[in-house]
Amino acid sequence: MRKKIVAGNWKMNLLDEEVINFIVDFNSRKNEIESDSEIIILPASIYLDTMISMPDWDIKIGAQNCSQFNNGAYTGEISAAMLRDFDYDSENLHYCLVGHSERREYFNEQNDVLAEKVNRLIENGLKPIYCCGEELQHRESESHFDWVQAQIEEGLFHLKEEELKQVVIAYEPVWAIGTGKTATSNQAQEMHAFIRSLIAKKYGDSTANSISILYGGSCKPENASELFDQPDIDGGLIGGASLKVDSFIQIINSF
Ligand code: PEP
Repeated sequence: MRKKIVAGNWKMNLLDEEVINFIVDFNSRKNEIESDSEIIILPASIYLDTMISMPDWDIKIGAQNCSQFNNGAYTGEISAAMLRDFDYDSENLHYCLVGHSERREYFNEQNDVLAEKVNRLIENGLKPIYCCGEELQHRESESHFDWVQAQIEEGLFHLKEEELKQVVIAYEPVWAIGTGKTATSNQAQEMHAFIRSLIAKKYGDSTANSISILYGGSCKPENASELFDQPDIDGGLIGGASLKVDSFIQIINSF
């Protein structure tokens, strides 16, 4: 009923030749893919064009960030309208990450700004992948549910029901990102069920049950099946393990 999704967040990795090699290799191994999950890759913005123009590349593509502003004097920024404009005809570019913990931490992006980014994307027909997740200190002080609740409410709960249905949520405990420490499947399931219950309280069960919630944080071939088997985990947002075709395909096949 809900879409299963495996999304690869390439962050600031891979240069043009490596991007092309990945796509050529991935395309030649498409017959190994056994799962019907939606596959998304989120390259650095400068390579969106390369990915969109590759022949036989039918994987969905997303950006890693966009501006909260429509247009104007914001040097270095890329607007949601520009992302939309980029791929208006082929419609490969569907998604954009919002609020990845690295953006929250290094670029000081707060929930109110992220809510604006979500708005710009939806206004332009793109789907936000909205990231949330607690830091280690929140888990240790048992305030992790409150923290994630505030991220969800402040970033998303101003949306109308039909708008919220355009959003994919990624729960990524910050202490698990790039550290090799994965949340246990119980810890992840517990938080995913909690997020879904928040949505159900505000928008009703049917909307809550229609929204894909992905897990991210050191997800790899060895642990993906156990995570994806949980009833409220609808796939993964994968960092390091999405940079190699082998491990990415193994994770995609973990459903
Ligand atoms: C991420 O950056 O979204 C992520 C989950 O990274 P990793 O898989 O490397 O922990």
